[in-house]
Amino acid sequence: MKIICIGRNYVNHAKEMNSEVPKEPMIFIKPETAINNQDTLQYPIFTKSLHYELELVLKISKTGKNISLENASQHYQEIGLGIDFTARDIQYKCKEKGHPWEKAKAFDDSATVGAFVNKEKLNTQNISFELKLNDETKQIGRSKDMIFDFDYLIHYASQFFTLEEGDLIFTGTPEGVGEVKVGDKLVGYLESEILFNVTIN
Ligand code: MG
Repeated sequence: MKIICIGRNYVNHAKEMNSEVPKEPMIFIKPETAINNQDTLQYPIFTKSLHYELELVLKISKTGKNISLENASQHYQEIGLGIDFTARDIQYKCKEKGHPWEKAKAFDDSATVGAFVNKEKLNTQNISFELKLNDETKQIGRSKDMIFDFDYLIHYASQFFTLEEGDLIFTGTPEGVGEVKVGDKLVGYLESEILFNVTIN
């Protein structure tokens, strides 16, 4: 399986990164070894600036290639929450040199993945989600603020990559990204339900 990640899918996050708002989805991939579904995360030794990015996550339920916009919603049944952990210091160095940024984004355990909820229980056009760090709210997002919505992301990504059952799509982070330190506790809420709870070790 693979994890397809979308960059800069919220206008206010693109602004906080001093980045342009993209005209088409920005895509990168994390490998299966990036998945962390434990309640702890080991702070990686190679970075001094580990950032959280809370994201809505789609679980692909049906394999497809060149999926039409009209059929896109048939390819996922569950929505969850994850953190696209990013070694921001390394990412800046990669960006500066024009190098690929996998070292900063796709390392082991860089994708915290929480529980999933059946999409029938949600209004997919307007899901709200929230990240608390040590009980303080750091990020609040709403799916309606995405530049490219779920169906478009599935349609777009499937032109390049066959989407296989079990693949995950991280749909981008809203504003409010920031650093974590050893000992921090991160809790992710979808509507008011806790989907993950992870402590940095
Ligand atoms: Mg991200």
